[in-house]
Amino acid sequence: MHSIHDSQKLKEFLEEIWEKSFRYGQIENAIYKNFITDFDEIQTIPQALRDKLKENFQYTSLTVDHKATSKNDQTTKLLFKTEDDLLIEAVIMRHKTGRNTLCISCQAGCPMACTFCATGKLWLQKNLSLWEILDQVMYAAKLLNDEWGRLRNIVFMGMGEPMLNYDAMKLAIEAMCAQKKFDLSNRRVTVSTCGIVPWINKFADDFPQNGLAVSLHAPNDEIRKSIMPVDHTYPLDTLMSSLDRYTEKNNKRIFYEYIMINGVNDHIKLAYELWELLKWRLAHVNFIPYNAWEGTGGTYSATPKFIIEKFQKILLEYWIVSTIRATMWDDIDAACGQLARKKKDQEKKDEK
Ligand code: SF4
Repeated sequence: MHSIHDSQKLKEFLEEIWEKSFRYGQIENAIYKNFITDFDEIQTIPQALRDKLKENFQYTSLTVDHKATSKNDQTTKLLFKTEDDLLIEAVIMRHKTGRNTLCISCQAGCPMACTFCATGKLWLQKNLSLWEILDQVMYAAKLLNDEWGRLRNIVFMGMGEPMLNYDAMKLAIEAMCAQKKFDLSNRRVTVSTCGIVPWINKFADDFPQNGLAVSLHAPNDEIRKSIMPVDHTYPLDTLMSSLDRYTEKNNKRIFYEYIMINGVNDHIKLAYELWELLKWRLAHVNFIPYNAWEGTGGTYSATPKFIIEKFQKILLEYWIVSTIRATMWDDIDAACGQLARKKKDQEKKDEK
């Protein structure tokens, strides 16, 4: 079975069966604009072609294993199962402005092993295929469309390190921004990396208009190394030089993610170090209150809100813009990898 997102295969298939070339556009329109999930319901093409599509193509490779919406209806967490039985996550965040955002996964698990991250504890299970990435987008786009909403933003901030699945990520971004497919603006598709320098350089060349977010989480190598092994290979000065190159080339503000962990990276002196690091740079810092989960054995806890606000105030004194991510989804385990990890732990318990 081929994925319906596989344009090349679909075009070749239509040629092989002597279908007229405009059929491709009709199918594409039915899938991406009318959100038809059942080939039998594509009324614009003949029944014989619908039958052949059913035999050769599939609408999605993912099944929904679990779906949870937060009490305030703003966030929906999706746990998908791949055809090879791996769990991956995506999160829909609805905003009152209609700026609906989807956070997607690009790997099942992650090899980067950040100590605070539930996904990192799963290690790398596999790189997701292009189709598995697009199937997450398709599901969310349809769900929002059914609610009379529209998908506006996509962030590669779910499970995995996108730069380590670069080719699939690149093709996925192209499909997301293609007018006849998901039709998103390049500016509204953001890739988040923990700091894999060679690929950041490539990304700057390939995607001058797309957003870049960096998981910084500490303003010095000592603390960063202790929570993010990637810092051993790409320490801060190397990372910051590559980010400066990105800004010089694209003149775009970079989003710096800073997860606030009590007693680890939240000492007030670090707010001044953070300021030192970013003061001449086009930066937006996003503070993320740590979402405690059982997998760290109680090692980490969340920084009190007043300390996060102090950090924010210090940065603001020096004109560095920052936001604090709202914790509107604690009730659904929406931090990256939490659901998949929980489910895996449960499966292990059940096997015993
Ligand atoms: S924080 Fe990101 S890069 Fe680090 S282990 Fe988790 S998913 Fe991987």
